[in-house]
Amino acid sequence: MAQISLTVDGTSLKLEADQRPTHIFADNKEIVVCRVNGVLKDLWTELSEGDVVESVLISSPDGLAVLRHSTAHVMAQAVQEVYANTRLGIGPPIKDGFYYDFDPVNTFNPDDLVKIESAMRKIVKEGQRFRRRVTTEVEALKELAHEPYKCELIGIKGPAGEEASVEVGGSELTIYDNLGRDGNPVWSDLCRGPHLPSTKHIPAFKLMRTAAAYWRGSEKNPMLQRIYGTAWPSQDELNAYLELLAEAEKRDHRRLGTELDLFSFPEEIGSGLAVFHPKGGIVRRAMEDYSRIRHEEENYEFVYSPHLTKAALFETSGHLQWYADGMYPPMILDEELNPDGTVKKAGQQYYMKPMNCPFHNLIYKSRGRSYRELPLRLFEFGTVYRYEKSGVLHGITRARGFTQDDAHIYCTKEQMVGELDSLLTFVLNLLRDYGLNEFYLELSTKNEEKFVGEDADWAEATDALRKAATAQNLELVLDEGGAAFYGPKISVQAKDAIGRTWQMSTIQVDFQLPQRFELEYSATDGTRQRPVMIHRALFGSIERFFGVLTEHYSGAFPPWLAPVQAIGIPVADTFSDYLGDVIKRMRKAGIRAELDASDDRMQKKVRNAQLQKIPFMVIAGEEDQKAGAVSFRYRNGEQKNGIPIADAIAEIKKVVAERTQV
Ligand SMILES: [Zn+2]
Ligand SMILES: [Zn+2]
Repeated sequence: MAQISLTVDGTSLKLEADQRPTHIFADNKEIVVCRVNGVLKDLWTELSEGDVVESVLISSPDGLAVLRHSTAHVMAQAVQEVYANTRLGIGPPIKDGFYYDFDPVNTFNPDDLVKIESAMRKIVKEGQRFRRRVTTEVEALKELAHEPYKCELIGIKGPAGEEASVEVGGSELTIYDNLGRDGNPVWSDLCRGPHLPSTKHIPAFKLMRTAAAYWRGSEKNPMLQRIYGTAWPSQDELNAYLELLAEAEKRDHRRLGTELDLFSFPEEIGSGLAVFHPKGGIVRRAMEDYSRIRHEEENYEFVYSPHLTKAALFETSGHLQWYADGMYPPMILDEELNPDGTVKKAGQQYYMKPMNCPFHNLIYKSRGRSYRELPLRLFEFGTVYRYEKSGVLHGITRARGFTQDDAHIYCTKEQMVGELDSLLTFVLNLLRDYGLNEFYLELSTKNEEKFVGEDADWAEATDALRKAATAQNLELVLDEGGAAFYGPKISVQAKDAIGRTWQMSTIQVDFQLPQRFELEYSATDGTRQRPVMIHRALFGSIERFFGVLTEHYSGAFPPWLAPVQAIGIPVADTFSDYLGDVIKRMRKAGIRAELDASDDRMQKKVRNAQLQKIPFMVIAGEEDQKAGAVSFRYRNGEQKNGIPIADAIAEIKKVVAERTQV
């Protein structure tokens, strides 16, 4: 047989012309798909002279997506086996899993998922091969006449690259056949692929839940039923994922917010707008107070600005041009009418503010500025309002009204490098003080197609950000070309206690707003110069950071943040007075201490304190009273007895002052 020359994973090879990637990579079961000349392809794909072939592991992002999408196929096949006449929608991979939309004869219920799963296991066991078959529009429409949604997709298939979806959108229209043991097709689906070589390459999967979903995301279309599932390269990874989900569920800040009486979203106020209850108020105030102290130490100046402004301000800033969708619609105010009802003076548009920057620029501009005043660091806990779609709202981590710990730094070009460096150190250290310790940084660089400002300034700012990031000895991920058009940005990603990543702080250089607002300062030589502006939110928003910390600590806040730091629990009623005095002394010492004077028995009180995740249970019985002491019981159940009252107070005060966890 003729031979062809190939490059396989960087090595030049001569192979028989009928060899396919599935043969080449036969020894490694982890390789489930490949790239041929850069394009992701099935392992069954035919190769030609000169092709550059790269293996793709099941555990890589591409491999996982192909695994999950292939599992979606198997699910659709199983659904049609178990429930004949179910029509198919689409079935793409998503983060950590996949879904498939169906138009079923009867709505699926949880029992159905069990049946579908077991049909899927049979298909996986059979090891059905996914075979790619090129077809034409006419043939596909005939073959899929019983699948109205698929036919609609064929109809919207544009030229290559346009509206690319999982089903259609490649340069060819393709159908994938699943081949049974005898090599004949047992099931087919319109799809552009690629897929795993066969169903037996699906190591571990699980169906998660059903949900309603409009066909192609539009309310004008029929409502379909979506089944979500997940698939992993091994059973261990699937188990770990399910455990993580269960753990995340236990830590969900929306649930803890109710259980710990921290905050709520009253229907009467509207979605995405929270109220903080007294206990949540304490946590929030402790967070803010500490932040204020640290900002003062770093020479920030505190400013305040209103929640509402005339439209002109957001025209100057450009927000109305490119951010109007994210803003609440305007109010028309100050209109004056003539006695006959005609308009004497037209009304003015006022907007709720989605950002604080324009206000700070006006403060900067309120008088002439000299180089001596720079860097000028303006800080505000500024509450902003953004009109988020109700579908994306998520407790206090994604809300419509929230308070940014927002600062804008105005400095000279010469000061920029040093400023960015010290800023990043400040940001990371402050996050560490709140108990986050694992970070990586992401640097977003210039999009060459779309930017304002001088190339040299971009280069310098990007360089400064990169240097500052490198100096932190943290992992640095490049987001090449990902910057907003007005300047490069660094963002701090923090890992929480269960390994999830949250985007926290951003440090954003802005070459645009100083221009739009014509900001100036007089330089040493008397000339008027434009300052560099740096936007910087450290928590992002207080509410969001509150939510992140709630989940990070699973509601068991360290004492300095805990709403109640110590709760007095007498062993019996007779010790209530003694313990009441101890609690009074603690309160005098500045500790947030309470006495549980309820009629509950001691064990119930301990249980309640545990549910409220209070760091110190201060217990007193006969021996304690005789000795002028108390016993501590910690959240983990450990106990320490016979602590003299003064020592008990000192211990609590120490961990609060040092912001350590107990
Ligand atoms: Zn497919
Ligand atoms: Zn800003």
